[in-house]
Amino acid sequence: MQQEVIIVGGGMVGLSLALMLAKTKIEVKLLEAIKYPNYDDENLATYHSSFDARNSALSRRSVQIYQELGLWALLQEHATPILEVNITEQGSFGKARLKAEQEKVESFGQVIENAWLGRVLLTQVQKEPLIELIDGVQVTSLTQDADFAYIEAKRGEYTHKLQSKLVIAADGRDSFCRKALGIGASEHDYDQVAIVTTVQTSKPHHHVGFERFSHLGPLALLPLPGEYHRSVVWPVKKGTEDEWLGEHNDQHFLDALQETYGDRAGKFQKTGRRFSFPLSQVLAEKQAVGRVVLMGNAAHTIHPVAGQGFNLCMRDAYVLVRYLKEQQAQAADLGDASMLQDYEKARLKDQQRVIKFCDSVVRGFSNQNPILKLARNTGLMCFENIPGIKPLVANYAMGLKS
Ligand SMILES: Cc1cc2nc3c(=O)[nH]c(=O)nc-3n(C[C@H](O)[C@H](O)[C@H](O)COP(=O)(O)OP(=O)(O)OC[C@H]3O[C@@H](n4cnc5c(N)ncnc54)[C@H](O)[C@@H]3O)c2cc1C
Repeated sequence: MQQEVIIVGGGMVGLSLALMLAKTKIEVKLLEAIKYPNYDDENLATYHSSFDARNSALSRRSVQIYQELGLWALLQEHATPILEVNITEQGSFGKARLKAEQEKVESFGQVIENAWLGRVLLTQVQKEPLIELIDGVQVTSLTQDADFAYIEAKRGEYTHKLQSKLVIAADGRDSFCRKALGIGASEHDYDQVAIVTTVQTSKPHHHVGFERFSHLGPLALLPLPGEYHRSVVWPVKKGTEDEWLGEHNDQHFLDALQETYGDRAGKFQKTGRRFSFPLSQVLAEKQAVGRVVLMGNAAHTIHPVAGQGFNLCMRDAYVLVRYLKEQQAQAADLGDASMLQDYEKARLKDQQRVIKFCDSVVRGFSNQNPILKLARNTGLMCFENIPGIKPLVANYAMGLKS
Protein backbone atom coordinates (compact mmCIF):
# COMPACT_ATOMS: atom_id res chain seq x y z
CA MET A 1 0.00 0.00 0.00
CA GLN A 2 1.58 3.31 -1.11
CA GLN A 3 0.82 6.01 1.44
CA GLU A 4 1.72 9.65 1.40
CA VAL A 5 2.59 11.66 4.47
CA ILE A 6 1.81 15.37 4.82
CA ILE A 7 4.30 17.57 6.66
CA VAL A 8 3.10 21.03 7.68
CA GLY A 9 6.04 23.44 7.98
CA GLY A 10 9.20 23.50 5.90
CA GLY A 11 11.62 24.94 8.47
CA MET A 12 14.90 23.18 9.26
CA VAL A 13 13.00 20.31 10.89
CA GLY A 14 10.29 19.84 8.25
CA LEU A 15 12.82 19.88 5.40
CA SER A 16 15.19 17.44 7.17
CA LEU A 17 12.34 15.09 8.05
CA ALA A 18 11.00 15.13 4.47
CA LEU A 19 14.43 14.02 3.23
CA MET A 20 14.66 11.27 5.87
CA LEU A 21 11.23 9.96 4.80
CA ALA A 22 12.08 10.08 1.10
CA LYS A 23 15.23 8.10 1.84
CA THR A 24 13.03 5.33 3.24
CA LYS A 25 10.85 5.52 0.10
CA ILE A 26 7.91 7.20 1.83
CA GLU A 27 6.20 9.85 -0.28
CA VAL A 28 5.79 13.29 1.24
CA LYS A 29 3.73 16.41 0.59
CA LEU A 30 5.41 19.33 2.30
CA LEU A 31 3.32 22.45 2.94
CA GLU A 32 5.10 25.69 3.80
CA ALA A 33 3.60 29.11 4.42
CA ILE A 34 6.57 31.09 3.11
CA LYS A 35 7.32 31.26 -0.62
CA TYR A 36 10.92 30.05 -0.88
CA PRO A 37 13.44 31.85 -3.07
CA ASN A 38 14.61 29.82 -6.03
CA TYR A 39 17.90 28.23 -4.95
CA ASP A 40 19.16 26.49 -8.05
CA ASP A 41 22.54 24.79 -8.45
CA GLU A 42 24.13 27.93 -9.79
CA ASN A 43 23.19 29.86 -6.67
CA LEU A 44 24.51 27.06 -4.49
CA ALA A 45 27.86 27.18 -6.22
CA THR A 46 28.13 30.93 -5.86
CA TYR A 47 27.02 30.99 -2.23
CA HIS A 48 28.88 33.55 -0.16
CA SER A 49 28.98 33.28 3.58
CA SER A 50 26.75 35.93 5.08
CA PHE A 51 27.96 38.13 7.88
CA ASP A 52 24.60 38.49 9.52
CA ALA A 53 22.93 35.04 9.63
CA ARG A 54 22.16 32.71 12.55
CA ASN A 55 24.38 29.67 13.07
CA SER A 56 23.58 26.33 14.68
CA ALA A 57 25.78 24.01 16.71
CA LEU A 58 25.07 20.56 15.28
CA SER A 59 25.80 17.66 17.61
CA ARG A 60 27.78 14.65 16.35
CA ARG A 61 24.52 12.71 16.15
CA SER A 62 22.92 15.34 13.87
CA VAL A 63 26.05 15.30 11.69
CA GLN A 64 25.78 11.48 11.49
CA ILE A 65 22.15 11.79 10.36
CA TYR A 66 23.13 14.21 7.57
CA GLN A 67 25.95 11.84 6.63
CA GLU A 68 23.42 9.01 6.30
CA LEU A 69 21.34 11.28 4.06
CA GLY A 70 24.42 11.83 1.90
CA LEU A 71 24.33 15.59 2.56
CA TRP A 72 27.28 16.13 4.85
CA ALA A 73 29.90 16.56 2.12
CA LEU A 74 27.96 19.57 0.86
CA LEU A 75 26.97 20.92 4.27
CA GLN A 76 30.48 20.86 5.65
CA GLU A 77 31.61 23.42 3.08
CA HIS A 78 30.18 26.04 5.45
CA ALA A 79 30.62 24.26 8.78
CA THR A 80 33.47 24.11 11.25
CA PRO A 81 34.22 21.58 14.01
CA ILE A 82 34.18 22.28 17.76
CA LEU A 83 37.27 20.69 19.27
CA GLU A 84 37.10 22.18 22.75
CA VAL A 85 34.44 23.76 24.97
CA ASN A 86 35.24 26.14 27.83
CA ILE A 87 32.61 27.06 30.41
CA THR A 88 33.30 29.95 32.79
CA GLU A 89 31.45 32.54 34.83
CA GLN A 90 32.37 36.22 34.79
CA GLY A 91 33.90 37.27 38.10
CA SER A 92 34.43 33.68 39.30
CA PHE A 93 37.38 31.31 39.42
CA GLY A 94 35.69 28.04 38.40
CA LYS A 95 36.21 26.72 34.91
CA ALA A 96 35.16 23.59 33.05
CA ARG A 97 36.98 22.45 29.93
CA LEU A 98 36.05 19.62 27.57
CA LYS A 99 38.53 18.57 24.89
CA ALA A 100 37.56 16.35 21.96
CA GLU A 101 41.01 14.79 21.93
CA GLN A 102 40.69 13.73 25.58
CA GLU A 103 37.24 12.30 24.96
CA LYS A 104 38.75 10.43 21.98
CA VAL A 105 36.36 11.92 19.44
CA GLU A 106 37.11 13.81 16.27
CA SER A 107 34.97 16.78 17.40
CA PHE A 108 32.01 17.55 19.68
CA GLY A 109 29.98 18.70 16.71
CA GLN A 110 30.00 21.31 13.98
CA VAL A 111 28.83 24.90 13.74
CA ILE A 112 26.96 25.58 10.53
CA GLU A 113 25.46 28.68 8.97
CA ASN A 114 21.69 28.30 9.01
CA ALA A 115 21.44 30.06 5.66
CA TRP A 116 23.63 27.37 4.12
CA LEU A 117 21.86 24.51 5.89
CA GLY A 118 18.52 25.86 4.64
CA ARG A 119 19.78 26.23 1.09
CA VAL A 120 21.21 22.73 0.92
CA LEU A 121 18.09 21.14 2.44
CA LEU A 122 15.73 23.07 0.18
CA THR A 123 17.70 22.29 -2.97
CA GLN A 124 17.71 18.57 -2.11
CA VAL A 125 13.99 18.64 -1.36
CA GLN A 126 13.31 20.31 -4.72
CA LYS A 127 15.31 17.60 -6.51
CA GLU A 128 13.70 14.68 -4.66
CA PRO A 129 10.98 12.98 -6.77
CA LEU A 130 9.25 11.51 -3.69
CA ILE A 131 8.68 14.95 -2.17
CA GLU A 132 6.09 17.38 -3.47
CA LEU A 133 6.84 20.83 -2.10
CA ILE A 134 3.92 23.23 -1.98
CA ASP A 135 5.18 26.56 -0.67
CA GLY A 136 3.41 29.86 -0.17
CA VAL A 137 0.40 28.06 1.36
CA GLN A 138 -0.97 28.64 4.85
CA VAL A 139 -2.59 25.67 6.56
CA THR A 140 -5.86 27.03 7.97
CA SER A 141 -7.73 23.87 8.91
CA LEU A 142 -6.76 20.48 10.34
CA THR A 143 -9.32 17.88 11.33
CA GLN A 144 -9.34 14.09 11.50
CA ASP A 145 -11.58 11.06 11.72
CA ALA A 146 -10.90 7.34 12.09
CA ASP A 147 -9.60 7.00 8.50
CA PHE A 148 -7.82 10.22 7.56
CA ALA A 149 -6.50 13.61 8.65
CA TYR A 150 -7.85 16.49 6.54
CA ILE A 151 -6.09 19.73 5.73
CA GLU A 152 -7.08 22.99 4.09
CA ALA A 153 -4.25 25.22 2.94
CA LYS A 154 -4.82 28.65 1.43
CA ARG A 155 -2.88 30.48 -1.26
CA GLY A 156 -4.67 33.78 -1.79
CA GLU A 157 -8.25 32.96 -2.69
CA TYR A 158 -7.45 29.35 -3.62
CA THR A 159 -7.89 26.57 -1.05
CA HIS A 160 -6.04 23.25 -1.38
CA LYS A 161 -8.02 20.40 0.20
CA LEU A 162 -5.84 17.45 1.13
CA GLN A 163 -6.14 14.27 3.13
CA SER A 164 -3.58 11.83 4.43
CA LYS A 165 -3.19 8.83 6.70
CA LEU A 166 -0.57 10.80 8.66
CA VAL A 167 0.05 14.50 9.23
CA ILE A 168 3.32 15.63 10.81
CA ALA A 169 3.02 19.13 12.22
CA ALA A 170 6.43 20.84 12.12
CA ASP A 171 4.93 24.31 12.06
CA GLY A 172 7.02 25.92 14.79
CA ARG A 173 6.63 27.33 18.26
CA ASP A 174 3.18 28.88 17.70
CA SER A 175 1.97 25.77 15.83
CA PHE A 176 -1.41 26.27 14.20
CA CYS A 177 -1.85 22.48 14.03
CA ARG A 178 -1.28 22.06 17.78
CA LYS A 179 -3.99 24.61 18.48
CA ALA A 180 -6.35 23.21 15.83
CA LEU A 181 -6.22 19.83 17.58
CA GLY A 182 -6.85 21.44 20.95
CA ILE A 183 -3.48 20.28 22.33
CA GLY A 184 -2.49 22.50 25.23
CA ALA A 185 1.04 23.74 25.81
CA SER A 186 2.85 24.92 28.91
CA GLU A 187 4.69 28.15 28.30
CA HIS A 188 7.43 29.82 30.27
CA ASP A 189 8.67 33.23 29.17
CA TYR A 190 12.35 33.61 30.12
CA ASP A 191 12.00 37.39 29.93
CA GLN A 192 15.04 37.30 27.65
CA VAL A 193 15.82 37.89 23.99
CA ALA A 194 18.82 36.32 22.28
CA ILE A 195 21.08 38.80 20.50
CA VAL A 196 22.59 36.90 17.60
CA THR A 197 25.39 37.88 15.26
CA THR A 198 28.81 37.04 13.81
CA VAL A 199 31.97 38.78 15.00
CA GLN A 200 35.58 38.95 13.97
CA THR A 201 38.32 38.70 16.59
CA SER A 202 42.07 39.34 16.42
CA LYS A 203 42.94 35.88 17.77
CA PRO A 204 42.05 32.73 15.78
CA HIS A 205 39.43 30.55 17.45
CA HIS A 206 41.36 27.26 17.16
CA HIS A 207 37.91 25.60 17.08
CA VAL A 208 37.21 26.41 20.73
CA GLY A 209 33.67 27.22 21.81
CA PHE A 210 33.06 29.35 24.91
CA GLU A 211 30.04 29.54 27.15
CA ARG A 212 30.47 32.43 29.58
CA PHE A 213 27.87 33.23 32.19
CA SER A 214 27.79 36.99 32.64
CA HIS A 215 25.58 39.34 34.65
CA LEU A 216 23.88 40.28 31.34
CA GLY A 217 23.15 36.66 30.40
CA PRO A 218 24.86 33.42 29.25
CA LEU A 219 27.08 34.33 26.29
CA ALA A 220 27.98 31.66 23.72
CA LEU A 221 30.88 32.26 21.36
CA LEU A 222 31.31 29.51 18.78
CA PRO A 223 33.92 29.00 16.04
CA LEU A 224 32.87 29.60 12.43
CA PRO A 225 34.48 28.83 9.07
CA GLY A 226 37.25 31.41 8.76
CA GLU A 227 39.74 31.27 11.60
CA TYR A 228 38.78 34.67 13.04
CA HIS A 229 35.00 34.49 12.73
CA ARG A 230 32.81 33.52 15.66
CA SER A 231 29.11 33.16 16.16
CA VAL A 232 27.58 35.05 19.11
CA VAL A 233 24.36 34.09 20.91
CA TRP A 234 23.78 36.35 23.86
CA PRO A 235 20.48 36.13 25.76
CA VAL A 236 19.85 39.47 27.50
CA LYS A 237 16.93 40.85 29.49
CA LYS A 238 13.85 41.52 27.40
CA GLY A 239 13.44 45.25 26.87
CA THR A 240 17.18 45.95 26.80
CA GLU A 241 17.67 44.73 23.20
CA ASP A 242 17.54 48.25 21.71
CA GLU A 243 20.81 48.91 23.51
CA TRP A 244 22.51 46.23 21.34
CA LEU A 245 20.70 46.34 18.01
CA GLY A 246 21.40 48.77 15.16
CA GLU A 247 24.57 49.91 13.43
CA HIS A 248 24.93 52.90 15.78
CA ASN A 249 25.48 50.41 18.66
CA ASP A 250 28.24 48.39 16.93
CA GLN A 251 31.05 49.74 19.09
CA HIS A 252 29.01 49.55 22.29
CA PHE A 253 28.28 45.88 21.54
CA LEU A 254 31.94 45.10 20.77
CA ASP A 255 32.99 46.83 24.01
CA ALA A 256 30.50 44.75 26.02
CA LEU A 257 31.84 41.54 24.48
CA GLN A 258 35.38 42.62 25.25
CA GLU A 259 34.53 43.41 28.85
CA THR A 260 32.77 40.07 29.29
CA TYR A 261 35.42 37.91 27.61
CA GLY A 262 38.61 39.76 28.49
CA ASP A 263 41.35 38.94 26.00
CA ARG A 264 40.60 35.21 25.56
CA ALA A 265 39.53 35.88 21.98
CA GLY A 266 41.88 38.83 21.48
CA LYS A 267 40.29 42.06 20.33
CA PHE A 268 36.68 42.04 19.16
CA GLN A 269 37.24 43.92 15.91
CA LYS A 270 34.10 43.78 13.85
CA THR A 271 30.48 42.83 14.30
CA GLY A 272 27.81 41.86 11.80
CA ARG A 273 24.22 43.05 12.02
CA ARG A 274 22.54 41.89 15.22
CA PHE A 275 19.18 40.11 15.27
CA SER A 276 17.00 39.42 18.29
CA PHE A 277 14.91 36.35 19.11
CA PRO A 278 12.45 36.25 22.05
CA LEU A 279 13.16 33.26 24.31
CA SER A 280 10.54 31.05 25.86
CA GLN A 281 9.99 27.41 26.61
CA VAL A 282 6.85 25.96 25.00
CA LEU A 283 6.07 22.31 25.67
CA ALA A 284 3.11 20.56 24.05
CA GLU A 285 1.06 18.53 26.54
CA LYS A 286 0.81 15.70 23.98
CA GLN A 287 2.79 15.04 20.83
CA ALA A 288 0.66 12.40 19.17
CA VAL A 289 -3.12 12.69 18.80
CA GLY A 290 -4.90 10.32 16.46
CA ARG A 291 -3.21 10.57 13.05
CA VAL A 292 -1.24 13.70 13.81
CA VAL A 293 2.16 13.96 15.44
CA LEU A 294 3.92 17.17 16.49
CA MET A 295 7.55 17.60 15.58
CA GLY A 296 10.29 20.19 16.10
CA ASN A 297 9.48 23.44 17.88
CA ALA A 298 5.77 22.61 17.61
CA ALA A 299 6.41 19.78 20.10
CA HIS A 300 9.05 21.48 22.27
CA THR A 301 10.67 24.88 22.02
CA ILE A 302 13.56 25.29 24.43
CA HIS A 303 16.13 27.91 25.45
CA PRO A 304 19.16 27.94 23.10
CA VAL A 305 21.64 28.09 25.99
CA ALA A 306 23.34 24.79 25.18
CA GLY A 307 22.52 24.62 21.45
CA GLN A 308 20.33 21.54 21.92
CA GLY A 309 16.92 22.44 20.42
CA PHE A 310 17.42 21.48 16.79
CA ASN A 311 19.61 18.50 17.70
CA LEU A 312 16.83 17.11 19.87
CA CYS A 313 14.35 17.61 17.00
CA MET A 314 16.69 15.70 14.66
CA ARG A 315 16.79 12.74 17.05
CA ASP A 316 12.97 12.80 17.32
CA ALA A 317 12.65 12.87 13.53
CA TYR A 318 15.10 10.02 13.13
CA VAL A 319 13.21 7.79 15.57
CA LEU A 320 9.81 8.64 14.04
CA VAL A 321 11.14 7.65 10.61
CA ARG A 322 12.29 4.34 12.07
CA TYR A 323 8.75 3.62 13.34
CA LEU A 324 7.23 4.64 9.99
CA LYS A 325 9.68 2.48 8.10
CA GLU A 326 8.52 -0.56 10.07
CA GLN A 327 4.88 0.27 9.39
CA GLN A 328 5.67 0.70 5.69
CA ALA A 329 7.47 -2.66 5.58
CA GLN A 330 4.37 -4.35 7.01
CA ALA A 331 2.05 -2.39 4.72
CA ALA A 332 0.44 -1.08 7.93
CA ASP A 333 -1.27 2.27 8.50
CA LEU A 334 1.33 5.08 8.77
CA GLY A 335 -1.07 7.09 10.91
CA ASP A 336 -1.82 4.32 13.37
CA ALA A 337 -2.56 6.10 16.65
CA SER A 338 -1.03 3.51 18.97
CA MET A 339 2.20 3.40 16.93
CA LEU A 340 2.44 7.21 17.13
CA GLN A 341 1.89 7.05 20.88
CA ASP A 342 4.65 4.44 21.16
CA TYR A 343 6.91 6.85 19.26
CA GLU A 344 6.03 9.62 21.73
CA LYS A 345 6.75 7.37 24.72
CA ALA A 346 10.06 6.28 23.22
CA ARG A 347 11.22 9.90 22.90
CA LEU A 348 10.10 11.24 26.29
CA LYS A 349 13.23 10.33 28.27
CA ASP A 350 15.68 12.08 25.94
CA GLN A 351 13.34 15.08 25.54
CA GLN A 352 12.81 15.52 29.28
CA ARG A 353 16.53 15.23 30.01
CA VAL A 354 17.42 17.95 27.48
CA ILE A 355 14.51 20.22 28.43
CA LYS A 356 15.36 19.95 32.14
CA PHE A 357 19.06 20.48 31.54
CA CYS A 358 18.63 23.64 29.43
CA ASP A 359 16.02 25.09 31.76
CA SER A 360 18.08 24.49 34.91
CA VAL A 361 21.21 25.99 33.34
CA VAL A 362 19.31 29.19 32.47
CA ARG A 363 17.59 29.46 35.85
CA GLY A 364 20.64 28.34 37.83
CA PHE A 365 23.07 30.79 36.27
CA SER A 366 20.78 33.82 36.11
CA ASN A 367 20.71 34.24 39.90
CA GLN A 368 23.50 36.55 41.12
CA ASN A 369 23.11 35.62 44.81
CA PRO A 370 26.75 35.22 46.16
CA ILE A 371 26.00 31.86 47.83
CA LEU A 372 24.63 30.47 44.58
CA LYS A 373 27.65 31.88 42.73
CA LEU A 374 29.95 30.00 45.09
CA ALA A 375 27.93 26.81 44.57
CA ARG A 376 28.25 27.25 40.79
CA ASN A 377 31.98 27.70 41.10
CA THR A 378 32.27 24.58 43.16
CA GLY A 379 30.20 22.78 40.54
CA LEU A 380 32.49 23.93 37.72
CA MET A 381 35.56 22.85 39.71
CA CYS A 382 34.02 19.44 40.47
CA PHE A 383 33.34 19.07 36.79
CA GLU A 384 37.07 19.60 36.17
CA ASN A 385 38.16 17.16 38.85
CA ILE A 386 35.68 14.29 39.18
CA PRO A 387 36.86 11.38 37.00
CA GLY A 388 34.30 10.03 34.54
CA ILE A 389 32.00 13.05 34.55
CA LYS A 390 33.43 14.61 31.39
CA PRO A 391 32.88 11.68 29.02
CA LEU A 392 29.32 11.41 30.35
CA VAL A 393 28.52 15.08 29.76
CA ALA A 394 30.34 15.05 26.40
CA ASN A 395 28.26 12.11 25.21
CA TYR A 396 25.04 13.81 26.17
CA ALA A 397 26.07 17.07 24.48
CA MET A 398 27.05 15.22 21.31
CA GLY A 399 23.61 13.60 21.27
CA LEU A 400 25.17 10.14 21.36
CA LYS A 401 23.51 9.09 24.60
CA SER A 402 19.82 9.45 25.33
C1 LIG B 1 18.91 32.19 19.04
C2 LIG B 1 18.75 30.73 18.81
C3 LIG B 1 19.86 29.94 18.60
C4 LIG B 1 19.72 28.55 18.42
N1 LIG B 1 20.83 27.80 18.27
C5 LIG B 1 20.71 26.46 18.18
C6 LIG B 1 21.87 25.63 18.09
O1 LIG B 1 23.02 26.11 18.07
N2 LIG B 1 21.69 24.27 18.03
C7 LIG B 1 20.45 23.70 18.07
O2 LIG B 1 20.35 22.46 18.06
N3 LIG B 1 19.34 24.47 18.14
C8 LIG B 1 19.42 25.82 18.19
N4 LIG B 1 18.30 26.58 18.26
C9 LIG B 1 16.97 25.94 18.15
C10 LIG B 1 16.54 25.78 16.68
O3 LIG B 1 16.66 27.00 16.02
C11 LIG B 1 15.11 25.26 16.58
O4 LIG B 1 15.03 24.06 17.28
C12 LIG B 1 14.69 25.03 15.14
O5 LIG B 1 14.77 26.21 14.41
C13 LIG B 1 13.27 24.49 15.08
O6 LIG B 1 12.89 24.38 13.73
P1 LIG B 1 11.41 24.03 13.30
O7 LIG B 1 11.51 23.66 11.85
O8 LIG B 1 10.79 23.10 14.24
O9 LIG B 1 10.59 25.40 13.48
P2 LIG B 1 10.61 26.72 12.60
O10 LIG B 1 11.97 27.08 12.18
O11 LIG B 1 9.81 27.73 13.35
O12 LIG B 1 9.81 26.32 11.27
C14 LIG B 1 8.41 26.22 11.22
C15 LIG B 1 7.97 26.38 9.77
O13 LIG B 1 6.57 26.18 9.68
C16 LIG B 1 6.00 27.16 8.82
N5 LIG B 1 4.60 27.34 9.21
C17 LIG B 1 4.14 27.85 10.39
N6 LIG B 1 2.79 27.86 10.40
C18 LIG B 1 2.39 27.33 9.20
C19 LIG B 1 1.12 27.09 8.61
N7 LIG B 1 -0.03 27.37 9.26
N8 LIG B 1 1.07 26.57 7.35
C20 LIG B 1 2.24 26.25 6.69
N9 LIG B 1 3.47 26.46 7.22
C21 LIG B 1 3.53 27.00 8.45
C22 LIG B 1 6.85 28.40 9.07
O14 LIG B 1 6.77 29.31 7.99
C23 LIG B 1 8.24 27.79 9.23
O15 LIG B 1 8.92 27.69 8.00
C24 LIG B 1 18.42 27.96 18.44
C25 LIG B 1 17.29 28.77 18.64
C26 LIG B 1 17.45 30.14 18.83
C27 LIG B 1 16.21 30.98 19.06
